[in-house]
Amino acid sequence: MAVAQPEAGLVPPASASRIRCTVDLDRDGKRHGNLIVPHSRNESAWGCIQVPITVVRGGPGPTILLTGGSHGDEYEGPVALIKLARALDPSRVKGRVIVVPSMNLPAVRDATRLSPLDGLNMNRIFPGRRDGTVTSMIAHYVFHELVRRADVVVDLHSGGKTLDFVPSVVMHELEDPALMERTLAALRTFGSPLALVLKELDNEGMLDTVVEESGRVFLSTELGGCGTTTPERIAIADRGVHNLLCHFGVVDAEPWAGAVPTRLMHTPDEDSFLTAEEAGLCEPLVELGAEVAAGTPVFRIHSFERPELEPAVSVARRAGVLYSRHAPGLVHRGDCLAVIAVDYAGAATRP
Ligand code: CA
Repeated sequence: MAVAQPEAGLVPPASASRIRCTVDLDRDGKRHGNLIVPHSRNESAWGCIQVPITVVRGGPGPTILLTGGSHGDEYEGPVALIKLARALDPSRVKGRVIVVPSMNLPAVRDATRLSPLDGLNMNRIFPGRRDGTVTSMIAHYVFHELVRRADVVVDLHSGGKTLDFVPSVVMHELEDPALMERTLAALRTFGSPLALVLKELDNEGMLDTVVEESGRVFLSTELGGCGTTTPERIAIADRGVHNLLCHFGVVDAEPWAGAVPTRLMHTPDEDSFLTAEEAGLCEPLVELGAEVAAGTPVFRIHSFERPELEPAVSVARRAGVLYSRHAPGLVHRGDCLAVIAVDYAGAATRP
């Protein structure tokens, strides 16, 4: 699967992407085009992958980069962004909106989390490599050509086929207090039922990490999951994207009110994450979004090979809200079973 990399020292400067964009990113007006990713293979000697991109520019103002489809089995983001790309009116834009609804196009085409071409997880390989495989080349282009043009980056995710989430907008705890304040202010405008300050178990190679380290505002989302979507979740995605464009002054419009007030929460430490200790069949005991106490049983896991055994019971290690849970009925040891979010106390002291 993975292609051997050329030796270090033979490659041109990091900024020289091998990807060509068919539209001018820097001119006023609205253009739909593609990122042309070279992909020579047995089936297509001089072939390429074409990743759709839309740019809308209306004079001076901030640039917001909106991406979806980093994982190919997540749908709210790509659907909302495809709709937005069609709807955006350049006469209402002050600044620039760059939209890439299906960043990992090969994965979107196959409805898989990882790219079927090289087995890579796009959101674990940033800032990518100009001389890497297809996924890595796209990541490299996104970081060096798109993020570097942007003031604000929003990467829309959801749980894919294996997780389900209370629809939420997500940021990380940031060391820079000014960037933390700006990001929190944007987080509050999104209008999802839950807004999360997330502690990642592993943030190496995420788009989030490289954008945050560059000092730009970065937001992500977890808008649902189970490899599908719902009208309610699409509406949350549509509203969130619209409200962020309003918040940053990129479009001349009024924000849309959320159906319920946003509850600001976080995952303070590893006790928020429940990992399966046994393989088996999942019996969920708590609905997504429900309140749990410390010690509340969240899942029973039944042995389908040894039905005479008592099921393993996974209990919440802290009180809070069942923010995410394992989606498939079959679970393996080491799978993420559930995430418990708690109210964000830090928010009380923040403006
Ligand atoms: Ca994801």
